[in-house]
Amino acid sequence: MLKKELVRLLKNEHPFGLVNEMADNLTSDLKGTFSYSDEFLKSILADVKTIAMVGASPNWNRPSYFAMKYLQSKGYKVFPVNPVALDQKILGEVVYSSLEELPHKVDMVDIFRKSEDAGKITEQAISHGAKVVWMQLGVVNHKAARVAEEQGLRVVMDRCPKIEFSRLFGELSWHGFNSKVISSKRRSKGIAEPQKPSNSIKTVAATPGFETRAIHSGASPDPSTGARSTPIYQTTAYVFDDADHAASLFNLQTFGNIYSRLSNPTTAVLEERISSLENGKGATCTASGHSAQLLALLPIMDPGDTLLASTKLYGGSITQFGKTFKKFNWNCKFVDFDDIEAVGNAAKDPSVKAIFGESLANPGGVISDIESLSYITQTAGIPLIIDNTMATPFLCQPIQHGADIIVHSTTKFLSGHGNAMGGAIVDSGTFNWAQNDKFPSLAQPEEAYHGLNFYESFGDLAYTTYGHAVGLRDLGPTMAPMNAYLTIMGIETLALRMEKHVANAKIIANFLNEHNEVAWVSYAGLKDSKYYNLAKKYLPKGAGSVFTFGIKGGYNAGVKFVEKCQLLSHLANIGDTRSLVLHPASTTHRQLTETQRISAGAGDDVIRLSIGLETPDDIIADIEQALA
Ligand code: PLP
Repeated sequence: MLKKELVRLLKNEHPFGLVNEMADNLTSDLKGTFSYSDEFLKSILADVKTIAMVGASPNWNRPSYFAMKYLQSKGYKVFPVNPVALDQKILGEVVYSSLEELPHKVDMVDIFRKSEDAGKITEQAISHGAKVVWMQLGVVNHKAARVAEEQGLRVVMDRCPKIEFSRLFGELSWHGFNSKVISSKRRSKGIAEPQKPSNSIKTVAATPGFETRAIHSGASPDPSTGARSTPIYQTTAYVFDDADHAASLFNLQTFGNIYSRLSNPTTAVLEERISSLENGKGATCTASGHSAQLLALLPIMDPGDTLLASTKLYGGSITQFGKTFKKFNWNCKFVDFDDIEAVGNAAKDPSVKAIFGESLANPGGVISDIESLSYITQTAGIPLIIDNTMATPFLCQPIQHGADIIVHSTTKFLSGHGNAMGGAIVDSGTFNWAQNDKFPSLAQPEEAYHGLNFYESFGDLAYTTYGHAVGLRDLGPTMAPMNAYLTIMGIETLALRMEKHVANAKIIANFLNEHNEVAWVSYAGLKDSKYYNLAKKYLPKGAGSVFTFGIKGGYNAGVKFVEKCQLLSHLANIGDTRSLVLHPASTTHRQLTETQRISAGAGDDVIRLSIGLETPDDIIADIEQALA
């Protein structure tokens, strides 16, 4: 059984029942896969006052030190337990050799030790009288969990209380993590508000619908002013409370803003919103779709590595991958993604570090078989990256089909009004960056952060944390807060717009299909399309509104047609409220060779349309007169 299938099973079944027996045999390589209700985690963090941290380290760049410092700052009394660090204090606290030595009873035992050691520590926690056993990121011991639960303790595995606290009590917006919290009330930041007791581990609240998340995710009322619409935080930097606060921020030990190249509160709302719509763990927004692609690959690719990409990508991506990325000594091998066997064979090359395709390709209306690609990447132990720009999460949900990372040009349908450049990278949080030695940037010590290991410290938030703390910090393609604001506004109506885009596109595609001057129409929503069945599977609400058709008369006829359009705008963009038209061979794809152009679906006779939201009869009338 594929690991991801098993993970899906476990997500819904933990902690009781047959699946538990299977789970006992699993090791901690199933990171970040357990589902605990927010109510359950919140009630633990609100009830607990004293914590014994077993495995607390005196070394300031270890994850346990981060967690202890953070928990202390939130008012918890933390007792470090570490038999090899007895001769020194940790963060002002005396170190104890074992739980038996503690002078006080503690509410919770937090385990920073190997999964196999968690059994013994859990037994000690039970004898000690603790009410909660919390196993840290990467620590998973189902047997110990069951023993403790049978004794009435509450148990959490493979989670960091620091991350959960900041997620649930209003602080994590810094990185655009998907807190899953939706609220029309001001949130008091960083305070564990009293909760109703909860023993329910399973997530009880149904996930709010797409439209609700498109309007609310990431955007509670502003904590200081109560402003209901997201404010534009037009600032470059943020004050530190004191020198220690500054040091903690720079060490990534606490969550917060330093400088807007790395993070900004308006952009963070957009990041959380897009992450929520894609069902991801977190997102990093960038200045454009192209910079999102660059930043998406930065933690994955090293010099000499290879990216496996589809031949049918947006032309600009082919140039970026095939030419410019060569300057970083990143190679790109282009393969026809319609030939899944060829993709599988190419992925066997050990230098291949990721596979990159578009859910719905620009401009040809080509659809990637995401599940087959995901099977290949899981077998190879590499991530699958899907550009979901043309489909948007309203039409296609690549993570549900096995994609690990999603990239967007938010310039297109997400902002939707043709007024703001932007990009986004969404992490599913399910890829295990430590499963092999292919991803040192995430799973090895990072020199620029004094040896911090991102995956060990941040678990399923590691990739997104790296995107901000290294990607944006060092490469600098930051989204402007004004553009983030415009994109947030756009996303609020995404569902309505996409429905209308699709309805209009179908009408225009059918009209063109019948027209004498048109040689062919490539729209995956048409029954005779090669991609019709894939469209039904991956884009059940419609095949988008960007497609191509072949004009009789070739290159010259194509150029003439775009010049004759009066309502459709002749420009190099897609996903606007306005209908747009382009002749790719003479514009976006002119840098490519003829062979590349043809394989990218941009031959001489190709016209690309991005159907907008105008009255369909008016769009047809304009096309008709231009064809005439
Ligand atoms: N991906 C796709 C599918 C695109 O259509 C585009 C731009 O047209 C990009 C990426 C690049 O995005 P941007 O222009 O925002 O850099």
